[in-house]
Amino acid sequence: MKDYDYDTIVVGAGPAGSTTSALLAEKGHKVVMIEKDKFPRYHVGESLMPFCYFTLERLGLVEKMNDIGFTKKFSVQFVTEDGSQSKPFYFFQHYDHPSSTTWQVMRSEFDNLIMEKARNNGTEIRELTKAKSLIKEDGNVVGINVENDAGKAYKITAPIVVDASGRNTFAQNKLKWKKKDPKLNKVATWTYFKGALKDPGLDAGSTTVAYLPGKGWFWYIPLEGDIVSVGIVAEKDYIFSGTKDLAEIFKREIQNNEWIKNHLESATQFGKYWSTGEYSYRSEFCADDGLLLVGDAFAFLDPVFSSGVFLALKSGEMAADAISNALISKDYSANQFEPYGKELCHGIESMRALVYAFYDDSFSFADLIKSHPDMRSDLTDCLIGDVFKDFTKLFGAVSDFANVPTKLPHGLVA
Ligand SMILES: Cc1cc2nc3c(=O)[nH]c(=O)nc-3n(C[C@H](O)[C@H](O)[C@H](O)COP(=O)(O)OP(=O)(O)OC[C@H]3O[C@@H](n4cnc5c(N)ncnc54)[C@H](O)[C@@H]3O)c2cc1C
Repeated sequence: MKDYDYDTIVVGAGPAGSTTSALLAEKGHKVVMIEKDKFPRYHVGESLMPFCYFTLERLGLVEKMNDIGFTKKFSVQFVTEDGSQSKPFYFFQHYDHPSSTTWQVMRSEFDNLIMEKARNNGTEIRELTKAKSLIKEDGNVVGINVENDAGKAYKITAPIVVDASGRNTFAQNKLKWKKKDPKLNKVATWTYFKGALKDPGLDAGSTTVAYLPGKGWFWYIPLEGDIVSVGIVAEKDYIFSGTKDLAEIFKREIQNNEWIKNHLESATQFGKYWSTGEYSYRSEFCADDGLLLVGDAFAFLDPVFSSGVFLALKSGEMAADAISNALISKDYSANQFEPYGKELCHGIESMRALVYAFYDDSFSFADLIKSHPDMRSDLTDCLIGDVFKDFTKLFGAVSDFANVPTKLPHGLVA
């Protein structure tokens, strides 16, 4: 195909797609972004990691993030099953840099902010338009078939299509590339409360991870406007033992952790109860000729360390750089994206090993640091999102307590 409509088509306007679009458009490329919903739209995943800062800085959005008044997150804290609270882990004690103050965000506002950035940089955005299938020519992806909300079907062409469709995994489904993580197979249920207790001072915006028996856990994420996002993550058999009614499950589990019970005592639940299951996967490939996967459309681990939005932003940034080079050299082959796949899988593997340790019965952060105090810094790097480093020593130490998973062989280019 000689005459393409655009340089790049991006499917999905979440943090991964909007970052890719914004940065590609900024470099002068002609980009169209297809989004099935109308923004602003609801999304789960409110707690950011400190290293989100650097992509937001590159997007020129840090000042806006502060202006919006999102809850400031200075720390993470852990609460044991019996309700005892660990000393909050303050990011600024590790890294004295503005990135150490991060945010708890209403995703409708946050995602809209990045989407508008993409638009202002020159991306054409088509909301209420759904990607239906990939168009291939001589083995290369050269566009997509779409349908708008009026039912009109049409095609759009470009030498590169980016799948940023999140957990809908548009390309993985079409190409049968989806591979579930062998062990991470939890379910999550969540809802929102008003009038819940907030800790004083710097801790008011902390993310709390509160344990349930058998390595299940609650998240407790204070948002702006007196709202707290509360979720439960655990094995399916545990969560659904006795009832499938999510409100009943919440009522039951709140009684199982004193800290959560105390914090929600005077609170009122509102809105619906949400749930999702079997959520951990990585695509067999991150790219094919003319196709690249970013964010959750490529891989999703687990909510526990709030790595999802960070990996979405970071992969969007890495993808924009790789695609720009491909467009300039007019080489759209999968090989162009090999360094992207290698680097991204390396970062994901660091987080994945930490997530495996978290769910291992014989692992605790306290024991790890007690026996390997020199590993505190590496551990913290991982927790703040500085994951593209060599963590051989850290996971050597972790292996004294927990099974460190072997790296998944897939996720590179087709
Ligand atoms: C229970 C749970 C809790 C989580 N908590 C956190 C957390 O606290 N912190 C954190 O960082 N992460 C969290 N995450 C992960 C986080 O939500 C995701 O990693 C993040 O949203 C990924 O961004 P994305 O841009 O890849 O995808 P998304 O944000 O999902 O965006 C994808 C977009 O694509 C659109 N789309 C989908 N299919 C099509 C199609 N066919 N055509 C057109 N448009 C399409 C969708 O409408 C959507 O707007 C959590 C995830 C879960 C499941």
